Amino acid sequence: MANYKHIGFNKPYLTGKETIYITDAVASGKISGNGKYTQLCQEYFENKYGFEKCLLTTSCTDALEMAAILIDIQPGDEVIMPSYTFVSTSNAFVLRGANIIFADSSPDNPNIDASKIESLITSKTKAIVPVHYAGIACDMDAIMEIANRYNLFVIEDAAQAIDSYHIGKDGVKKALGSIGHLAAFSFHETKNIISGEGGMLVINDTQFSNRAEIIWEKGTNRSAFFRGEVDKYGWVDIGSSFLPSEVIAAFLWAQIEQLEDIQIKRKSIWNQYYAGLQQLAADKNFKLPQIPDNATNNAHMFYLVFESLEKRMEAIERLKSKSIYAVFHYLSLHKSPFYQDKHKGGELSWSDHYSNALLRLPMYYELSNEDVATIISTLKNE
Ligand SMILES: *Cc1c(COP(=O)(O)O)cnc(C)c1O
Repeated sequence: MANYKHIGFNKPYLTGKETIYITDAVASGKISGNGKYTQLCQEYFENKYGFEKCLLTTSCTDALEMAAILIDIQPGDEVIMPSYTFVSTSNAFVLRGANIIFADSSPDNPNIDASKIESLITSKTKAIVPVHYAGIACDMDAIMEIANRYNLFVIEDAAQAIDSYHIGKDGVKKALGSIGHLAAFSFHETKNIISGEGGMLVINDTQFSNRAEIIWEKGTNRSAFFRGEVDKYGWVDIGSSFLPSEVIAAFLWAQIEQLEDIQIKRKSIWNQYYAGLQQLAADKNFKLPQIPDNATNNAHMFYLVFESLEKRMEAIERLKSKSIYAVFHYLSLHKSPFYQDKHKGGELSWSDHYSNALLRLPMYYELSNEDVATIISTLKNE
């Protein structure tokens, strides 16, 4: 049997500075959370993307759980989100007793179909959670307009959306994560910039700023105490241990320093895929990701959408026969073992279609031009 070079789906990229900053954090004697590196990271994101306030967390999952506490989700409240997403988008709200109202994805891409949201709103609806799939912006003009009209909170699941933007009807370009009342990012090792596990809560609506810090620090006003704003600190609210150690923040800082370089590399891989697969997609009737006019591309992911499960299976097998690992993605949450009996809505056929027919190609910093060329020619069956 021929011996092909193994091409995995993901390979975490290290800039080389991670262990230097970790050593520095350890040597400083302050390795618990909210130290120098945490503050460097938070200030960087606030300044670069116009986020009102950032708090690093140990995961995007944690950031979403903080968001659910902050908007005071009560049992029976309803939260609208796409079914085609990661479990944490839902779990964070289910943990506080919410009922999840799943909306279908758009025919154009796996993002929530904004035109389907309004008919799902009831007197119990508390929030909308758009997920910027593959870092491509949801229709935030439409979503914010509905939210304002019905007085709902918008929490952006921006896990995949670092360094990507939405271009409003007014022509104004805003970073994803800066538009909703709150937003959650992930630095899991599969994302563009990483810290192994890691995440961040963004607070754009400043009514939440003080309470967010308290929830972050186990329900205490410890952060205000260390700033000298209160003379003793104690238990003032519910909360948990959501803040990462300085070891994680130091790792993330090394990644942030290389963000621009990482983005240039990922976009060049994305463009090579796009150019190399355009003709084949037309010939074989599968779709490539399209960047809508109101969005930018952060090259988080390169995916194909086939006509059917069978066609996707064929592509997976063909790639695997050359030792190339391409993977499918979410299974519709409204059909999950945990939620299928609780889902009250009807068919969500686009969500199911992406569950069956979407395929993600290898995408990581160290993927070479030759690797991408091999993947393209394998898909072409050359
Ligand atoms: C990665 C991801 C998450 C979870 O992020 P963690 O940091 O692993 O908790 C949540 N939502 C979406 C859309 C994701 O892609």
